Amino acid sequence: MRSFRLSKNAVEELTAKYPTPFLVASVDKVAENYQFFKEHLPRVNVFYAMKANPTEKIITTLAGLGASFDVASGGEMKQLASLNIDGSRMIYANPVKTPAGLQTARQLGVNRFTFDDVSEIDKMAQAVPGGEVLVRIRVVNKRALVDLNAKFGCAPEEALDLLKKAKEKGLTPAGIAFHVGSQSLGASGHEEALLICRRLFDEAEEMGMHLYMLDIGGGLPVPDANGLAIDVARMADQINRQLDRLFPDTELWAEPGRFMCGTAVNLVTSVIGTKERNGQHWYVLDEGLYGSFSAHMYDHWHFAIHSYKKGERELCTLLGPSCDSIDFVARDVMMPRMEIGDAVLVPDCGAYSVASATDFNGFEIAPTYIWEDEEISQAFEEEDQSAVANA
Ligand SMILES: *Cc1c(COP(=O)(O)O)cnc(C)c1O
Repeated sequence: MRSFRLSKNAVEELTAKYPTPFLVASVDKVAENYQFFKEHLPRVNVFYAMKANPTEKIITTLAGLGASFDVASGGEMKQLASLNIDGSRMIYANPVKTPAGLQTARQLGVNRFTFDDVSEIDKMAQAVPGGEVLVRIRVVNKRALVDLNAKFGCAPEEALDLLKKAKEKGLTPAGIAFHVGSQSLGASGHEEALLICRRLFDEAEEMGMHLYMLDIGGGLPVPDANGLAIDVARMADQINRQLDRLFPDTELWAEPGRFMCGTAVNLVTSVIGTKERNGQHWYVLDEGLYGSFSAHMYDHWHFAIHSYKKGERELCTLLGPSCDSIDFVARDVMMPRMEIGDAVLVPDCGAYSVASATDFNGFEIAPTYIWEDEEISQAFEEEDQSAVANA
């Protein structure tokens, strides 16, 4: 499964047209990722976790393909509503909800929720009586880049008691949710979590509480990242087999974020300054940690940075444009010699990048252009000749 990747000539044409920095998103690639997901996990319905990348065209593309959405705040719900996406296609999957978020959910007809603590039950029962609730359990997965179980999820042995209490308050106990952690590198986290869920579904049945919905969260990775090549097809097939074996009759959902958008976006940024420091060339880029490289801070992400310059590669350091000395994009990486004005390309940067960018220091958030709206030829060179540094 190849990532969307701008060719050298496409970068040249785009930088002639637009000032850097900018991102380019391919909605065809987003659609391909969605179709890949449905091919390998055919029974699993999609709630796209829009926090990964809320670019409008990415959302409308997924909505057009039939996806629903995982939202965490009133703001995300309102953004979807402004795109004519109905509340019935949203799950409010932030285990702790704000008063304003619950009010927006009620107004927009959002009726599905996850929670992981007893303190949430009265809040939901008052704001959205009868709402369908899924209890989020904590699961263990050592093979994820981002651990989401340190902050979220109740102990599995508390789960049924929470659903029972929710039912007593007039909510509808629907099922169980979990998240194995983001950028998970194998299926074992899912497989083990599914075993725990099966046991809980059976125990609930014995208690006279029929659970009908299972939400397996996110976690599917960007396949080629951090120097690894993950076989996502195999991983998804393994999860699917476990679902068919353990949950043949249950309504299945997932909340993929990174997988849908990660491989569909490229960043183009250019060198705006150079320095000689520590016996190295230092290059200041027009995008940094406060911008789309924010993933470096928040998402533990290492970007591959491509230069089209020729020449021998040498040790160098890349920095962002802000006046904060934390703003190192990549230290001690090998790149060819560059000059002011040279563009570099960062593929696979659709997830948790521009979404958490800020305009700190007055540097505007980089705009996202849609590849399919541009009339530019994507002629590839015979062979990829770019030099890559892994930041
Ligand atoms: C962030 C998040 C996701 C998306 O996770 P990915 O690993 O990007 O697929 C899904 N569900 C919830 C509740 C999240 O917070």
